[in-house]
Amino acid sequence: MPYASRKHVKRLDPRGPLVFDARALGPGSVRTEERAVPAPADLRVELVSIPEGADLHLHVQLEGVAEGTLVTATASAPLSGECARCLGPVTSATKVRLQELFAYEAPDAGADADGYVQDGDLLDLEPALRDALVLDLPLAPLCSGDCPGLCVECGVRLADAGAGHGHAQPGAEPPPWPARDGPTPAGAPVPELRKER
Ligand SMILES: [Zn+2]
Ligand SMILES: [Zn+2]
Repeated sequence: MPYASRKHVKRLDPRGPLVFDARALGPGSVRTEERAVPAPADLRVELVSIPEGADLHLHVQLEGVAEGTLVTATASAPLSGECARCLGPVTSATKVRLQELFAYEAPDAGADADGYVQDGDLLDLEPALRDALVLDLPLAPLCSGDCPGLCVECGVRLADAGAGHGHAQPGAEPPPWPARDGPTPAGAPVPELRKER
């Protein structure tokens, strides 16, 4: 490793797809950039992800402020995953907006525990973008807003099976609650237990 791994000191590659150059941005000056970059890996939650390498579209505004650079960005990307109800494929898209201050490198690196720091003129949008995108991923994605899910009897996708799908009930219905040991609905008489003689 050519560089000591001191906290907050990470030399950025100016050609990195999510590295932006804030050079010549004095306080009050603004520059915007549009980029389409391949989505980095591991943008995922349990059931849905932004596929690695998918087109991630960025609109980034860099604004010079006294403390550093204020970044306002919107990012949009495709999503692919699994429906939380029927396990069918889900494809959709996400769009997030984020705003973060990238401060000039603090003279005492230990003082600034959180917040983003510029590396000279460069700033790496990836961690902020990753947080914003992953936080926005749906935990329970649905293939359609009214997905009826799976049949509890046979497991077929109800959306495929049609409205008439059903199963004849074999035998009598089970009692609404266990006669003795289970919880009794409030207000219902509690069956008395016979004492053994
Ligand atoms: Zn579904
Ligand atoms: Zn069924």
